[in-house]
Amino acid sequence: MALSLRQLKIRSQVFALILPLILVLFGFVGLFFYNYWKINQVRQSVERSELRVLHTESLLQGVNEMDSRARGYILTRQDSFLQAYQTASRSVLQEFVNLHDLTSQPPSRVAELGNLQKRFETWKTQRVDPVLAEVKAGGKSGGELVDEQWTSNLAEIQGAVLQLRQMSQKDADSNRSIRNHDIRWAVASGVAMGLVFAALMFLLVHYVSREITEPVQQFISAAEHLRHGDFDLELPPEADNEFGVLSRSFREMTEALWQDREELGALKRYSEAVTQCTSEAEVYDQILHALRDRFHAEQVIIFKLRPEEDYLEVVASLNPLPEDLQEWPVIEGKHRCKAVRMGRPFRVNDVSVEPLCPAKFAEPTKGSYYCGPLIAGGIIIGAVRLQGETGLWTPERESLVESYLSTTASVLSNLHLLQTMREQANMDPLTGLYNRRFCKDYARKLMAMSRRKDTPLGFIMLDLDHFKNINDVYGHEVGDRILRQFAKTVTQSMRETNLTARLGGEEFIILLPDTGAKACQVVAERIRNAVARMNAPQVKEKPIPPITVSLGIAVYPEHGGTLEEMLQASDRALYESKRAGRNRSTLYAEEKEITG
Ligand code: GH3
Ligand code: MG
Ligand code: MG
Repeated sequence: MALSLRQLKIRSQVFALILPLILVLFGFVGLFFYNYWKINQVRQSVERSELRVLHTESLLQGVNEMDSRARGYILTRQDSFLQAYQTASRSVLQEFVNLHDLTSQPPSRVAELGNLQKRFETWKTQRVDPVLAEVKAGGKSGGELVDEQWTSNLAEIQGAVLQLRQMSQKDADSNRSIRNHDIRWAVASGVAMGLVFAALMFLLVHYVSREITEPVQQFISAAEHLRHGDFDLELPPEADNEFGVLSRSFREMTEALWQDREELGALKRYSEAVTQCTSEAEVYDQILHALRDRFHAEQVIIFKLRPEEDYLEVVASLNPLPEDLQEWPVIEGKHRCKAVRMGRPFRVNDVSVEPLCPAKFAEPTKGSYYCGPLIAGGIIIGAVRLQGETGLWTPERESLVESYLSTTASVLSNLHLLQTMREQANMDPLTGLYNRRFCKDYARKLMAMSRRKDTPLGFIMLDLDHFKNINDVYGHEVGDRILRQFAKTVTQSMRETNLTARLGGEEFIILLPDTGAKACQVVAERIRNAVARMNAPQVKEKPIPPITVSLGIAVYPEHGGTLEEMLQASDRALYESKRAGRNRSTLYAEEKEITG
């Protein structure tokens, strides 16, 4: 599953935590500036209130100055008093301007100041200035000009100014307390914001540690365990994010690896077991059970290719074959088997819908089957069919079963090779009969069996008559051909349980288990007659005279206790046949001539 960075869930989960963190940070900065602005505002109000107090004081001072200078002029008519009065009057007007500038809020204060100014202007224009003008114009002067209204108006103005001062002082005090409160609130909210920020930061670190760092560490440790072949892993839980997906994939991958290791182990054990087998039958038994166990096969059939006869023969099966096939369990025409024809596996995952193998040999009516060739050294030596439930054959299973089959094929091929080598070591290359060494070993075994079963064992020794002449007259090659023909004639005249061997030159021996003297004599005569009737190869210039053989018979244990004694006895009997004129058989003890 390919995921772009934008699609990553873990990314959005981290963002979900970082976003409030950023918002808190913005809030924190905003709050800081707001508090700063607000405290600054209050500070300005405090300063303005304090300034108002100062200005009301100088206003009062100015008014008092005007009053005393006006009185001084009225009493003395000195111009210096008038000038001082006007200077004080300008400064009072200036103070009103200043106070108006400083009094924008609240409206009651503005109205108060307006009233005061009106009172002042009334006092100045209606009470003081007309008197001063009158004095200046040369009218009367003196203290009596300052009437009651003058002083009462002045007292009202002074009272109002003092009240204004008091109010300004009150405003300053109240603004100061507001400022202190705001500072306290700013500090408290700053600390609270800081705590929220720290908490979110802690959550983020905790989340990153729990959701990212821990899983990464667990993955590293799991990979390390895997590297050392330890499959007992502790993986992060399958959370609803990419680590969950990764964890699931890791788990599946580990299971697949474990499965592969198990399969490889089983294959190794199978290889070890099958290479210990000493016969094909043992190998068949191993492969049948291995395939049943590893692939849950319901039926396994092993075919052996008989190339000379052009058919595939069933040599083993897990369950018995259908009755009608038991007598002749073969696929005639090896190329009818698709796996053999193609030299590669043929499989049907559902027999009810897919085309089947043209060989049509005991095919299942439901489920699936797989048929793989047994190939050794590039040569097809057979095929194996596995039957099971529908849809059993995945590429992985196919490749695994191929490993089983190739191991089996090479073991079978080795066994076959070994068998051939063994046989060759025991065989005479000219006649295809067993050789002297094998014959002696085998004779000892037959003698032991004969002792155990208390049955006789017949020995017939054969020697061609005047064979030297044949060689001398017709050549060694003709002699060889006659030897081969003789061997064939002898084996054809006998039962399969008897063993014929070439002792050397043109001397042969036949071992006949469970055969007494009389029966041996019958066999000997049958052979002698068959040889006499044998069609020897014809040479145009010189026709070959009939080939004859002399035979000597001895029976174990009647005529000897050891192999040497038995060979000697039969040789003695043979000698007797020769001596009596050849082309005859003689039984040892009696040394009696049967045929003349
Ligand atoms: P007899 O009737 O007394 O047995 O006479 P014989 O000529 O057969 O005498 P003998 O058994 O002594 O001779 C054995 C001859 O068999 C000698 C040799 O020329 C021949 N011979 C032995 N081995 C072979 C062989 O492998 N091929 C051929 N062509 N001849 C062989
Ligand atoms: Mg001889
Ligand atoms: Mg001879």
